[in-house]
Amino acid sequence: MNTPLHTDLGATLERSRSGLRESHRRSIMRLLFAVTGSSLVVFACLQVLNGYWWVGAMELFASALLFFGVGRLRATPHLQHWTYAYLITLFSFFMIIMLLPQASVSAFVWVLMIPVLAYLLLGKREGMLLSVPFMLLGGVVYYLHLGRVGSPEMLIDLLNMMLCGVLMLAFIHVYEIWREEAEQRLVDMAETDALTGLANRSKFQGILNRTIAESARSGTEFALVIMDIDHFKVVNDTLGHDAGDQVLKSIGRRLTERLRTTDSVGRLGGEEFGLILRDVKPAVAFELMDELRQRIAERDLTYGEVHIRVTASFGIAQWPADGRDVQTLFCMADRGLYSGKRSGRNCVARPDGVASQIPREILSGRAS
Ligand code: GH3
Ligand code: MG
Ligand code: MG
Repeated sequence: MNTPLHTDLGATLERSRSGLRESHRRSIMRLLFAVTGSSLVVFACLQVLNGYWWVGAMELFASALLFFGVGRLRATPHLQHWTYAYLITLFSFFMIIMLLPQASVSAFVWVLMIPVLAYLLLGKREGMLLSVPFMLLGGVVYYLHLGRVGSPEMLIDLLNMMLCGVLMLAFIHVYEIWREEAEQRLVDMAETDALTGLANRSKFQGILNRTIAESARSGTEFALVIMDIDHFKVVNDTLGHDAGDQVLKSIGRRLTERLRTTDSVGRLGGEEFGLILRDVKPAVAFELMDELRQRIAERDLTYGEVHIRVTASFGIAQWPADGRDVQTLFCMADRGLYSGKRSGRNCVARPDGVASQIPREILSGRAS
């Protein structure tokens, strides 16, 4: 069986912030460093012309650091630290320029930039945690600034700024909640089999990858099982495609009913299902699957008035004895499955062909 390796969407989503994948965040950070570095050179010249030579010198120094960062950001494994260092420095810098005795009122527009940058680069939770204290601080600095000016319109100016800041933060926060929900819905759809509601092949492979990594860390074994409904085409051909769909749904439900919460199940495609049984020895995995096989073979499924009975074949591969990677494990479980099919179906088989006993009456019942 050809087993293409898909991206694990769930894991990718966990790593993404504000919908930005790691590579996008890296590009945005590099762009921000370059733009801020260049702007600082211009501001430094203006500050020197204004007589604030020490502010100008600091800005030039910061600009040199930022251009150094543009290079480092290309491959650093500590992107998150760089992001925090950049945002905290930038926001503190906004506060400093606003505190300058002759700060222009226009310097305070930078307060409104705080939530935009923080949410974009850090996502909802961390973005809020960083922007709220800096915005409050910005508000206090603005209040002090207006107090010094002592203008009669001070209250209006203060309210304008406060209202604008609060609304900006609220809208960005709400937007981020909706965006996260929409992204989650899309990922759920991309990972779920529409007919059975189980994990689809791509999601199942992601779970298998994670199970391998976890088992390698904890030193426990697990079993990968591929289950295929026997002679499923006959159900479609005799009762119709809709009956076939109902059988697939019922089998999916039956598989989940019998599994422990730590186990996983997915529909790999057509009438083929995958199961991951965590922390089991080969003999126990075999026993569990044989019990499942019997339950499927012995209980009728109903489709309207019609009673349908199907059987299934199971191929088991054990990690790490039969293979250490996804590809090999799938191959070995497949080998077990097809040796089971060859031995007459309705059985559980390992890659070496050891199959469970097939009760005679079921074999004869299926043949009739
Ligand atoms: P075997 O015992 O060798 O597995 O025989 P089989 O008939 O189960 O296998 P085969 O590969 O010949 O046929 C599988 C059938 O499953 C053919 C295909 O039309 C049907 N099938 C695949 N996906 C679906 C689906 O989503 N719904 C329905 N109703 N049928 C499906
Ligand atoms: Mg089949
Ligand atoms: Mg099949």
